[in-house]
Amino acid sequence: MEQGYVQVYTGNGKGKTTAAVGLAVRAAGAGYRVFFGQFLKDRPCCAASALADRFEEIEVRQFGSGKGLLLGRKEEADDRACAQEGFSRCEEAVRSGRYDLVVLDEINPAVSLGLVSQEQLLALLAARPASVEMVLTGRGACGPVLQAADLVTEMTERKHYFQKGVPARRGVEL
Ligand code: ATP
Ligand code: MG
Repeated sequence: MEQGYVQVYTGNGKGKTTAAVGLAVRAAGAGYRVFFGQFLKDRPCCAASALADRFEEIEVRQFGSGKGLLLGRKEEADDRACAQEGFSRCEEAVRSGRYDLVVLDEINPAVSLGLVSQEQLLALLAARPASVEMVLTGRGACGPVLQAADLVTEMTERKHYFQKGVPARRGVEL
């Protein structure tokens, strides 16, 4: 990319990962190469499968520990090890020159949980080659990351059927 920027999709409302998936498709359509890393997630969701299977420009990786999402569960040593390993892969992707767009899906909760430090993420943003666009998603992006970003979109929950007891659905949320 001629000039890449840092984008953050945060907030409680639906659409953060959806937006990142949409951007990855758009970038692939322009012939850009995309690295799509997913923190906390350990199983390819429908979006990840579609991206990986249908777009040769897009590489998708999951960095969860294999024990499901962290929601409601206390993190354990292997959650941290997986997140750190994943973060190294993302660092490599950003520095390699092999990708135009690098997505760190759910990196914000990974930072809030202490699996990846704020300093590590800020250092990666600072070391980003100007040609690489980065997208950071997830609730609770921390202040310094918001400050370092060039674009911040906050998805605000006005209504969500989750509140009516509708769980995440395959092909819609998963
Ligand atoms: P999407 O992937 O649909 O774009 P998102 O990335 O914006 O969503 P996440 O924060 O990653 O949203 O939410 C993941 C899942 O959490 C959703 O699929 C939903 O089922 C569930 N969820 C939604 N609202 C809440 C809530 N208030 N508390 C806990 N879980 C919720
Ligand atoms: Mg998400």
